[in-house]
Amino acid sequence: METSAPPASKPASVSPWSPDPNIRWHFDIDIVGGCNLRCPTCPVGNLPDIRVAKGYMQPSLLEKIVKKAILECNRLQISLYNWTEPFLHPKLGEMIRVVRSHDLRCLVSSNLNIIKNIDDVMAADPTRLRTSVSGFTQEKYGITHKSGDIDLVKKNMALVSRARDRNHSSTVLELCFHRYLGNHEEEVHMRRYAESLGFKFVPVWAYFMPLEKVLAYAEGGANNVQLTEEDRTVIDRLALPLDKALEASKKYRDKPCVLQEQQLAITLKGDVMLCCSVYDQSKYTLGSYLDMSLREIQEKKYQQTICGTCMKNGAHSLAVYGAEELDQIALANVAEHHPDAKLKSMHELARDRHRLDQRLMRKVKKSYRKARRKIAAV
Ligand code: SF4
Ligand code: SF4
Repeated sequence: METSAPPASKPASVSPWSPDPNIRWHFDIDIVGGCNLRCPTCPVGNLPDIRVAKGYMQPSLLEKIVKKAILECNRLQISLYNWTEPFLHPKLGEMIRVVRSHDLRCLVSSNLNIIKNIDDVMAADPTRLRTSVSGFTQEKYGITHKSGDIDLVKKNMALVSRARDRNHSSTVLELCFHRYLGNHEEEVHMRRYAESLGFKFVPVWAYFMPLEKVLAYAEGGANNVQLTEEDRTVIDRLALPLDKALEASKKYRDKPCVLQEQQLAITLKGDVMLCCSVYDQSKYTLGSYLDMSLREIQEKKYQQTICGTCMKNGAHSLAVYGAEELDQIALANVAEHHPDAKLKSMHELARDRHRLDQRLMRKVKKSYRKARRKIAAV
C-alpha cells in the first residue's frame, strides 16, 4: 500500500542508508514468546539455554507498531511469526485484524500441532496461512519436527480447510514440505493430501538455523556458539548440504543483504532485532521499535560486526536461498544418496505452480463471464 513519505531525519551523508520508497518492507513480528515444538534445525530446539522474552504481545502494542510502520514504509507486509508459534496467542484473530484493518498483507505460519479459536482466526482473514512439515508419517516427521505429531497436523489441516470455507475467508493455505535426505518418498503422499484440502504445495530445501550456528559451522565457533552432536546429525540429513551451499553462496558475498535492507524482526516486547536470522536477544537487540526512527534502526544495523562475518561467508545470501546453484547442488546430493528419487527442482516447481495459477485464473474469468452473460439475459 502507498502511504506518506518517511519522516524527515538526519542528513543522508551520515549513513550508508537512505530511504527508498520502492522497497517493500517485511516485518516479522513474534507475538508470543515460544513454540510448542523443538525442531533440531531451529534455535528453539538447538539453543535451549538461550533465554528469550516470554509472554504475549498485546493488540494495543501491535497497533502502535503497525501505525508507525505505515508512516515510515511506503510498501509493507507483516508476518506474525519468526521463531514462534502464533496459535499459542490467545487472541490471534484479534492480532490479525489489527494488521488487516490497515489493508496490509498479514502472513501467519504454524506447525498446526495446535489450532486455538480457528473460526475466529479464519474470519480475521489472514492473507496466507503456511504450515511446514517434513514427512507424511510420524517416522519421518518426528525426527525433524521434534515433539510434533503428524496425525494431529493432518487432522488440523482438514479443520483449517473447513473453517476457511465456513468463514468465507480468502486466505491462501500453503503447505511447505521441508526436503531432507530420505523423506522424498513421503513428498508425493503429502502433496496429494494437501492439495485435496485446497492447500498450495510448496517443497523447499530444509535449512539449518539460526545464523549464530551457521557461522559456528562456517568458522569453527563464532560468538562462542558451539555445534553439538545433534546439530551435526541434522546437518548430515539436509538434502541441501550446508558445506556446499555455503561454498556456492560465498560467490555472492558482495551482494547486499536483503534482510538488512528490507526487513525488520520485532520481538513480542516490541524490540527490533538485527534481522530475522539471529536468535540471541541479549546480543542482537537494537532497541525499542517505537522509540527509534527507521533511519536510526538502519544506522544501527549497519554498525553490527556480525554482518561482516556473515557476508564474508555468504550466509546472508544462503539465508534467502540467493545462489542459483543451490537447486543443482541439492538435487545432486539427493541423487547420490537415493538414486531412485525423482524430485523436481525448485525452478521446475515454480514453473508448474505458475502454469496452474494461470489455468485457475482462466477458469475463474470464464465463470465470471458466464455469470455476467446470465445476468444480462435476465
Ligand atoms: S515449529 Fe517452527 S518455531 Fe517451532 S521449533 Fe519448529 S521450526 Fe522452530
Ligand atoms: S548480513 Fe547477516 S547478520 Fe547482517 S542482517 Fe544480513 S543476514 Fe543478518
